[in-house]
This record gives sequence, structure tokens and C-alpha cells, in this order.
Amino acid sequence: MTRKPKVEVKATEGSMFDAVLARLDKAAEIYGLSEDVKNVLRSPQKAIKVSLPIMMDDGKMHIFEGYRTIHSTVLGPSKGGIRYAMDVNEEEVKALSAWMSFKCAIANLPYGGAKGGITCDPRSMSVGELERLTRAYTVALSDVFGVDHDIPAPDMGTSSREMAWILDAYNKVHRSDFPGVVTGKPVGLGGSMGRESATGRGIMICTLAALKKMKLDPKKITAAVQGFGNVGLHAARLLHDQGIKVCAIGDHTVTLWNEKGIDIAKAVKYVKENKGILKGFTGGKEIKNEELLTAAVDILVPAALQNVITKEIANKIKAKLIIEGANGPTVPEADEVLKEKGIVVVPDVLANSGGVTVSYFEWVQNKYGNYWTEEEVNAKHDLSMNTAFENVWNNKLEYKTTMRIGAYITALKKLEMGINAKGHY
Ligand code: NAD
Repeated sequence: MTRKPKVEVKATEGSMFDAVLARLDKAAEIYGLSEDVKNVLRSPQKAIKVSLPIMMDDGKMHIFEGYRTIHSTVLGPSKGGIRYAMDVNEEEVKALSAWMSFKCAIANLPYGGAKGGITCDPRSMSVGELERLTRAYTVALSDVFGVDHDIPAPDMGTSSREMAWILDAYNKVHRSDFPGVVTGKPVGLGGSMGRESATGRGIMICTLAALKKMKLDPKKITAAVQGFGNVGLHAARLLHDQGIKVCAIGDHTVTLWNEKGIDIAKAVKYVKENKGILKGFTGGKEIKNEELLTAAVDILVPAALQNVITKEIANKIKAKLIIEGANGPTVPEADEVLKEKGIVVVPDVLANSGGVTVSYFEWVQNKYGNYWTEEEVNAKHDLSMNTAFENVWNNKLEYKTTMRIGAYITALKKLEMGINAKGHY
């Protein structure tokens, strides 16, 4: 049945969690979700805050604050990354945990949603300080994490290195070996082939799927990618491999533009040899960070920060397709502007779900003790992403709405089924 949307997104000056609720409420109304189910989804199941006293290298004690929020376990154990950044706070972690529930439902994974984070500046800390902090956080949450309970993974500011520390700290507390308690591990410790580049790969698959719907040839397309970390680097590399000309890239140190296309292989080599940063790379002329978002390209991939596409920026965007690599890069107020301009937005909850999809494959391989080749992982990933994309696209058409609301409706249908089928107290 087709229902006509009649709801506007309410302006949200507030927190990231308010941005989640604005989209959830809009999708719920268009889909016709019951108030009861909506209210369950508006309220995360569990929120934990831990205080972590760490002895710093200079001999002084610093107290860090860590968080873990479990938004939902209705579809399975909760799954979600751990973020290290200075702006990590309770509200942000709550928002990211809700997005994980929607993301896992859209990707058709047997998982609920969670997220964790520590308020810290990982770039200013030594390896030793980061290791002590990660181990302290794991010990503090060792009753929360568990192969069939809550499974962390990397996010902004963390990588396979931190996941290996989490695995080791958890195993020491529980006195056994639980490779499936965390995903995104190094390959030799039970990590999956293809996990590191999975989020970027998912962005590439979504880009190709969207271009096909828009009847555009990837070989005649230009792109700008904000962020050159785990997500942005692999997204830029894989888009480039598909013949898409990547004209702008940037990170927290510099933003670069090259009309003829940036040599992405050279940029990747440069950051690997220069502490992960682009500053000093000479493959393009320096532009302002904001200019990347409004550059004259066909595709924009925000793959760094949240809230970068404001209403003001949305008005200036020239791209016809936005693939949200980062979580929450677009504020709700900008959604209407992008819609009015006819810009297709592949939302975060679909576009960056390649990471959690391969995390699920890693967890399955750990449970089986049987490991797949990169080709097998990529083939399963591509099939899963294309299926998720089609489901979202079909809901967008059925409900005559945007891909973002189509994605939320895809998630709501599954979560509603789970909540109602499991019943209530
Ligand atoms: P990362 O820490 O590996 O990289 C972050 C990148 O953003 C770095 O290149 C950094 O320099 C850049 N950056 C930071 N501040 C910036 C600024 N002001 N302007 C431009 N660039 C800036 O993090 P990541 O894992 O790539 O995550 C990026 C985003 O993708 C986050 O929103 C994260 O939640 C989301 N995400 C990550 C994964 C994953 O598997 N890692 C999966 C899904 C979603």
C-alpha cells in the first residue's frame, strides 16, 4: 500500500540524538508505526558511563570518561563501534547506538545496536597511554561485552590495534579465548579478510547502485571525499578504481583539489608514510575545508565528521549524489533543502553499513573457526549491500519519500516485527 507523506522534519537545534528522533518520528508517521513501538525505539535500553583513571606518561593521573549505550537487542546481540574523540559525550553515543540498530536492521544482520566512546584526543596520546586506556575501558565493561551480548568494533580514532587490546583484556578477565567478542581485529587474531576496507567498499557499491538508478556512467563522473581515514581513504581508492575521477580529498590537516583527478594511489602511499595525514601531499592545490563540500563535482562523500552538511552548506552543494560515509553528516534541517534540489542522498544507515556487514562475517567466521578468502568476503558483502540498497530504494518508491526515510522505514518494518513478535512484559 502506498501512503503519501505529509510530515515535515522538525528543526532540531539540539543534540545528535534529537537528529535521530527527528528522522525516526518522520519515518514512523509516514510508515504508520504504532506509538508503542515508536516509544520503545525512542528509548535506548541501557546507558553506561565509566570513569577511567589512567596514569599518563608524565606520571600524572588523568580521569577519562567512557560510555557504552545499548540501544536495542530486539534483533540480536548489540553491535557497534568504539570512538575516541574529544567531542564524545553521552548524547552522541546514544545517537550513534540508535543508528546502529537501524543500520543492522537495514543490512539484514541478526544484531541490535550499540555504540561506545571515550572522551580523549587519541592523536595527542602515546601508544602506551592509549593501550592503558583501552584496557581500562574493556575491564570496566567486561560484564557488558560478550560474544552473544554486546560486540564492539572500530570507529573514529580506533583501529585493529585497539581491537586487539580489547580482545586480550577481555580474554584475561574471562580466562578463556573469545575471538568473537570484538570485530575489526587484526587478521592473524581472527580478523576477517576485507574488514579494513569494508566500509569504503560499501560506499563504492552504493555509489554504483545509485548511479545505475540515475542512469549515469561512472566513467564520466567526478567526486569529492571528505576524510582520509579508514572510511574516506578506502572509499576514494575504490571509487577511483571504478573509473570515477576523485577531484577533492581532505582530512583534518589539509584539503586538496585537482581538476584532472587526484592520484589516489599516491595519496594513500603518502598518508601511510606520513603518520596517516595528508599535509604535505602535493597532488592538488590547497582549498578550504568547506569548499570541498560545495565543489563542482557529481558525487560528494562526507566521510569524516557529523553535522557538516548544514542548511547553509546544502544550499551551496553542487553534487547531484551524496553518499554518507560518516555517521550523521547531514543535519535534519538540510534534508528538505537537498530534497528540493533533487539531490539523491544515500543515507549513512545504508551507505556505511559495509563495515558492520563484514564485522558480522568476522563474527560468524570466529564462531565457526573457519576462515574465508577476501574474494568470498567481498562477494558476500557486495550481495548483501546491493540487497539492502534495493530494499531501501523500493521503500523510497513505495512511500514516495527520500532514500533516508526509505531506509528508516526499511529498519522500522523489521524492528516492529521483532518487538511485536517477542511480546511485552
Ligand atoms: P578515522 O579516525 O579513521 O578517520 C577520520 C578522518 O576524518 C581522518 O582522515 C581525519 O583526519 C578526518 N577529519 C577529522 N577532522 C576533520 C575535519 N575537521 N575536516 C576534515 N577531515 C577531518 O575514522 P573513520 O573510521 O574513517 O570514521 C569516519 C566516519 O565514518 C565517522 O563518522 C564514523 O562513525 C563513520 N563510520 C566508520 C566506520 C568504520 O568501519 N571505521 C563504519 C561506519 C561508519
